[in-house]
Amino acid sequence: MSELETRERLTPGPASSAIQWDYAPSLEATDHFKLESRYDLFIGGKFVAPHSKRWFQTINPATEETLAEVAEGDAEDVDRAVREARRAYEKVWRKTSPSERAKYIFRIARLIQEKARALAVVETMNGGKPIKESRDVDIPLAAAHFFYYAGWADKLEYAFPNRNVAPVGVAGQIIPWNFPLLMAAWKLAPALAAGNTIVLKPAETTPVTSLMLAQIIQEADLPPGVVNIVTGAGATGAALVAHDDVDKIAFTGSTEVGKRIQRAAAGTKKKLTLELGGKAPNIVFEDAPLDQAIEGIINGIYFNQGHVCCAGSRLFVQESILEPVVRKLRDRIGTLRVGNPLDKNTDVGAINSRAQLEKIQELVSSGVEEGAEMYQTSCSLPTRGFWFAPTFFTGVGQSNRIAQEEIFGPVLSVLTFRTPEEALEKANNTPYGLSAGVWTEKGSRILKMAQKLRAGVIWANTYNKFDPTSPFGGFKESGFGREGGVQGLAPYVQLS
Ligand code: ADP
Repeated sequence: MSELETRERLTPGPASSAIQWDYAPSLEATDHFKLESRYDLFIGGKFVAPHSKRWFQTINPATEETLAEVAEGDAEDVDRAVREARRAYEKVWRKTSPSERAKYIFRIARLIQEKARALAVVETMNGGKPIKESRDVDIPLAAAHFFYYAGWADKLEYAFPNRNVAPVGVAGQIIPWNFPLLMAAWKLAPALAAGNTIVLKPAETTPVTSLMLAQIIQEADLPPGVVNIVTGAGATGAALVAHDDVDKIAFTGSTEVGKRIQRAAAGTKKKLTLELGGKAPNIVFEDAPLDQAIEGIINGIYFNQGHVCCAGSRLFVQESILEPVVRKLRDRIGTLRVGNPLDKNTDVGAINSRAQLEKIQELVSSGVEEGAEMYQTSCSLPTRGFWFAPTFFTGVGQSNRIAQEEIFGPVLSVLTFRTPEEALEKANNTPYGLSAGVWTEKGSRILKMAQKLRAGVIWANTYNKFDPTSPFGGFKESGFGREGGVQGLAPYVQLS
């Protein structure tokens, strides 16, 4: 390519319309399961009408159509759920032998596998994520977490050698909308394995797969009250945090709400773990396998619409390779298929809610106002629902809002560095510390970077890979405590 052509192709504006084959639509079927028109609260092993007598509509963000009505639990409902969880803890679950507990958890895992297709479709319809993500990532990983922790239930003395291990009691768990079933699995599986009972509060925009999980829990014959699911919005979560008889709070969500929860739990008996926001650096050195790195970058920020706390939203490129990286990135985002999340070819689905879309739009406008250069795909977006075209910025300053604040959308900020030291300094220049990525041929450089990056999870020459055996959690304002792996049991046990 001539210098002139190169310059022309790197001019800011819409991303090049690289070759994109038209695929015939390949829609996942939705007629193999039936949703309830209304879901009540799951308390004491039964679905019960909320004390509030209020239900809210949960929608499909790709079409804005209502999927179902869901109960809005109030403080009385939370209290009823906590009392059931306490009763089940004292009378049943803490006395259930570890190997019996394991059998129930295995059963839940098997039932998730059996119903995987329906769960994947509903996850996509309620959350907006592409079916290939929910089918290949969310649902299999949720089952894998239950299988993994079922294996630990009768081996806790090996997880914590030479210690006496006891459960904590009643756990209140609050989860976000980006991985609804998977976040429920991350929280429920280790708590159950360690002998705790639970009140779970799903996110208000994505409650449906948690309620399908409640049906699975009934089918698995888990003793009533061991798992209770109370739907509602922030006030329902706040009531759970404020309840006197909750022994432990586990929260995944925004840093802002996390701080509020930490203040509410301060000075109480409650144990606390928080998994909060992120602004992950993805660092590409000049010796990295570029095409592989581009796929990792794309996977890290565009799949799942950037609705991932560990999304690689700050790309640090070594200055000598900036031109080919930007060119390849621009070509590659031009091939991303944005649209109906139920289409098996879709790469980028719908934004989860109108509020989230507005937040993305506001931050992207700030990037333009602060002088960064924007590249956006020129794909056509559906007229109904919430959508945002894959976007990246070059010429981003370290202090720009798009380099500092979590966007939680398909928006990447590209920055540069010259030396590994400069990369480290810039990458660590954030209040967050959830995850990071390093792309280089040199193993020694990977190890050196991994030691100095202030982040809980570091991927080398890959991105966004998860496994139940591997702990996940943050540094700094990304929170504390770990989920996954043997470390994920620690918040749910008392050791003596
Ligand atoms: P996000 O920005 O990812 O939506 P939030 O922190 O707003 O994250 O929400 C994550 C979860 O926390 C949701 O289930 C939400 O209902 C709940 N939540 C919101 N506000 C509060 C609060 N004050 N106390 C407890 N839970 C809350």
